[in-house]
Amino acid sequence: MAYKNPPIYISVKQLTKKYGNVFALNNVDLDIKAGEFLTLLGPSGSGKTTLLMAIAGFSRPTSGSISFGNKEMVLVPPHKREVGMVFQSYALFPHMSVYENVAFPLKLRKVPESNKRSKVNEALKTVQLDDYSERAIDQLSGGQKQRVALARAFVFGPRILLMDEPLSALDKKLREQMQIELKQLHRKLGVTTVYVTHDQREALTMSDRIAVINHGRIEQLDSPSKIYNAPSTRFVADFIGESSFLPLAKRGGYFFYGEEKIASICENQEYGDWALVLRPEKIKVANKEELKKDRLIYFSGLVLELIFQGESFLAWIELPNKQVISVRLSTTNYGQNKGIKENFDILLSVDRDDIIIVGESK
Ligand code: ADP
Ligand code: MG
Repeated sequence: MAYKNPPIYISVKQLTKKYGNVFALNNVDLDIKAGEFLTLLGPSGSGKTTLLMAIAGFSRPTSGSISFGNKEMVLVPPHKREVGMVFQSYALFPHMSVYENVAFPLKLRKVPESNKRSKVNEALKTVQLDDYSERAIDQLSGGQKQRVALARAFVFGPRILLMDEPLSALDKKLREQMQIELKQLHRKLGVTTVYVTHDQREALTMSDRIAVINHGRIEQLDSPSKIYNAPSTRFVADFIGESSFLPLAKRGGYFFYGEEKIASICENQEYGDWALVLRPEKIKVANKEELKKDRLIYFSGLVLELIFQGESFLAWIELPNKQVISVRLSTTNYGQNKGIKENFDILLSVDRDDIIIVGESK
């Protein structure tokens, strides 16, 4: 679908929103590129909706600036921002047909009838609902309702698309299908999109970049692979993916876990407590004949639980310091993992290339 507006960038500077003494947003800086799919990811109450609503113009920030392109928007009312919105609750008009719902933003903008019809039809076709235009909203499934809400959000050619947990009401299978559909739609429309979710897998699946938000602050802004493979804080490492954290000791310029030398200490790591992040899929059962021994770090432990979960086994391993970590072992190389049994000792290894070290608190 051709857009009347070229994609636009969004620049958020030192944005703060206070409710009484609560900082819903605390000095947020965020640059969103033109045409980008950016996700705000964080736990409930972290400030995602507040930030989205500030961009939409429904919530006035306490201080700071939001610009679209180089135009300051903080004082511009929502209807003049040319922003399309999709909510978890659909927010459709229940007494109107599918067609009337999608036509609504065009009616508000006084788009002439013939033009309106072709735009609505094109939008409905884009979300694969062209046969449903006369349906009543209550005759649609959850997924279809969300497609109508989407079509209504982009039919008028907004400069920006904002979505607040749009798939949360759908069951897992449909949600995963819609994630891919939304990604395809974004590729087709090329519109700058800000997407809110608390679901880390959804964020990894859909985004060009993810802003991980915690207590009203952005902890990390990066591509999905960077966020996963190089989390910059303990919070990010903990929130995205499964992680175990092993406390590290400092001796003679190096980090140690027990007697195992882990890495040299960088300048910015000199102060505070640091931990080694272990991702369950990066841990392997050590093969004693392994040639690249010095590339690996070894851990011994006791197998507490070994649980078959289809594509993998989940193992709980108790380390000598009594800490329990979880490890994923492929069911396909079960040959190599064959000797593993509950209540037996095990030697694990992790490649030095897969090491992540994070500060204990920030
Ligand atoms: P999220 O969308 O990440 O779940 P919100 O942006 O809704 O988080 O909320 C961020 C913080 O601001 C929370 O502590 C929440 O309780 C508070 N908050 C949000 N809206 C209001 C409001 N209208 N009045 C008072 N506090 C609010
Ligand atoms: Mg919210």
